[in-house]
Amino acid sequence: MKKNLTYEQLEAKVTLLEKKLKQSDRLINTSVKDYHFLQTLGNTIPTPIYFKDAQGIYRSCNDSFADIIFGVSKDQIMNHSLFDLAQYIPAELAPGYYAKDQYLFENPGKQVYQASVNCADGLVRIYVFHKATVHDKKNNVVGIVGVMLDVTELENQKLALQEKSQQLEVHSETDPLTGLHNRRKFNDIFANNLSIAKRQTRLLNFAIIDVDNFKNYNDTYGHVAGDNALILLSRFLQKRLLRADDYIFRLGGEEFGLLFYSDDEVSAREFANNIRQGVESLAIDHIQNENHELLTISLGIVTIKHKTKSISTIYEQADNLMYRAKNSGRNRILSLVI
Ligand code: GH3
Ligand code: MG
Ligand code: MG
Repeated sequence: MKKNLTYEQLEAKVTLLEKKLKQSDRLINTSVKDYHFLQTLGNTIPTPIYFKDAQGIYRSCNDSFADIIFGVSKDQIMNHSLFDLAQYIPAELAPGYYAKDQYLFENPGKQVYQASVNCADGLVRIYVFHKATVHDKKNNVVGIVGVMLDVTELENQKLALQEKSQQLEVHSETDPLTGLHNRRKFNDIFANNLSIAKRQTRLLNFAIIDVDNFKNYNDTYGHVAGDNALILLSRFLQKRLLRADDYIFRLGGEEFGLLFYSDDEVSAREFANNIRQGVESLAIDHIQNENHELLTISLGIVTIKHKTKSISTIYEQADNLMYRAKNSGRNRILSLVI
């Protein structure tokens, strides 16, 4: 049976209840303030943020998510799944997004990946998705939060930089007048092919080509005509290189280098001699080219059988041969197996 309370006891109880009421009011006020604070914070963040429940239904998002990604009010997104929003999420992308969510549900924790997203303004942006599972007190997964970081500008700058550095690399390896590989590229390719030749026991040949009496050509026809003759010659040489591992370089001035593989020294010499004849057949007038009167070239060619020779020795030997070809009348080739 319930005991009647004295007046004092009742008064104490009322005081206690009033205190509890005040506390609870304060708590509600704080929660409401926190809620508004968080909402304002979420909506001020320019990065799209969303929350989906364990069934993949959107339950919350910030303004950026609604505006940038969907371009509709939050109401039109909330309580819908990816597949209900086919109007905004392309049908071909939804299964991919769904699979990512499923993976995270099955492997709770964090998930980070990059993906392109068709945005409401018609632009495709690149986002890094930072996602994490949300857990209840019993550690059950109750959903996923996603934060989408726009890295479009960064990725574009990265691409532009990559393109620029590729262009710079090509520039640094290309002769500006003729478009041929330059001396710097020659050093790399020569070294590479010498080790390939060693490994594969293939026969590598190196020829130095030098235009005959080219100083006289400039003196007769002018420097611009000289440049044009070098361009014509380069195009011709380039056309003569039929295999992927044949290389032509402008070594400097009116000197060119040729690297090519052959079955033997005889066919290598034949190949070089065909080039010499071909240049003569271009029939570029050069009246001050004593005895020949057309633009001609002299070549020194070495067939490299002893691959232990250094690049500088090989170069020197080809150069010597070329000078001997000059001294013995020009428009000719001299070759040697080394
Ligand atoms: P040789 O038959 O002995 O090789 O005689 P050469 O006159 O060709 O040789 P020399 O080394 O005396 O002169 C080379 C000339 O090539 C001089 C230089 O003006 C010319 N030359 C080098 N590079 C260029 C270029 O880029 N453009 C033009 N127009 N001329 C160039
Ligand atoms: Mg020269
Ligand atoms: Mg010359």
